[in-house]
Amino acid sequence: MFDPLKEAEKIKEEIIEWRRDFHMHPELGFEEERTSRIVEEHLREWGYRIKRVGTGIIADIGEGERTIALRADMDALPIQEENDVPYKSKIPGKMHACGHDAHTAMLLGAAKIIAEHSDELKNRVRLIFQPAEEGGNGALKMIEGGALEGVNAIFGLHVWAELDSGVVGIREGPFLAGVGRFLARIIGKGGHGAAPQYTIDPIPAAADAILALQRIVAREVDPLESAVVTVGRVQGGTAFNVIPEFVELEGTFRFFTNELGEFLKSRIVEIIENTAKAHRCRAEVEADILGPPTINNGEMAKFVRRVAEDIGLNVGEVRKTLGGEDFAFYLQKVPGAFIALGIRNEEKGIVYPHHHPKFDVDEDVLHLGTALEVALAFRF
Ligand SMILES: [Zn+2]
Ligand SMILES: [Zn+2]
Repeated sequence: MFDPLKEAEKIKEEIIEWRRDFHMHPELGFEEERTSRIVEEHLREWGYRIKRVGTGIIADIGEGERTIALRADMDALPIQEENDVPYKSKIPGKMHACGHDAHTAMLLGAAKIIAEHSDELKNRVRLIFQPAEEGGNGALKMIEGGALEGVNAIFGLHVWAELDSGVVGIREGPFLAGVGRFLARIIGKGGHGAAPQYTIDPIPAAADAILALQRIVAREVDPLESAVVTVGRVQGGTAFNVIPEFVELEGTFRFFTNELGEFLKSRIVEIIENTAKAHRCRAEVEADILGPPTINNGEMAKFVRRVAEDIGLNVGEVRKTLGGEDFAFYLQKVPGAFIALGIRNEEKGIVYPHHHPKFDVDEDVLHLGTALEVALAFRF
């Protein structure tokens, strides 16, 4: 068989060019018109069979009893880029600050190489270019659109700011957390700031609720398990001498098992409702689980490790993170693995975390991701 790494090296510059083009033209979730048009044009030219799911693309090549799927996400974030680079975002307020531009470019590179060697394929290969990973659950739309029909295994690659450039980070089992969101309104009775006795002040109720929420993880969750409860937004009041009618709290909770997710959700609701009651207030609380934890299949993770080592990549460990990823939805349906590719390079000043206005990726390793995707497709 051909050498995937050599093939990827040949198109290294092309992958970087695609990445820069996507980077300069970021599009938010479900608005990936330009990006998906460019991707589709290339895939058609290379002989892929295309199915559109909105701004998402399902592209097949080859025939065989089994199908291996490779997935890239295409959406950007509502962030103003602060990097001073020639390929800086041209769209004010929008930026590829998570690296999905790199994911799209790497998988496009893999698509090109796979097509060039399609006569050597033993299986069908399906490429999934999905919209709206960032909070839009685009993965669910793709699954509804048939992305997993007939698929035996799925793999996805994410550039990883915590890992040194070029290191392939592989984990068996839990990798990213399940994500929940809550929104609460604690309602009292407004009035004059100098006459609290005629009001029901929702501010102390909100303050107590915020502190009480912190005790869920500290006192109720097994210390050997990981969980987070964060209040990210508190809003109430309009003036220094006015007791407001209500206070709003909004936050997120993270977990690695569905049981713990359900537990956190019910405790958040109970604590806010009952703390409000203790302060003579009333609370309206909504809490939802937005996505499950991303759990890698042990066998599939081992397969990735074997393949990556075989083609000469530098394989390392990657830490679990309480960040979330909608790749989890695919892994609920078919076995597979989510893989990290290190892009941190101190010498180049590429040290900022994902979703930071100065986030960037070490482009010199993107072809390694392409090589791994190609190798997975052929060796599955
Ligand atoms: Zn992100
Ligand atoms: Zn991401």
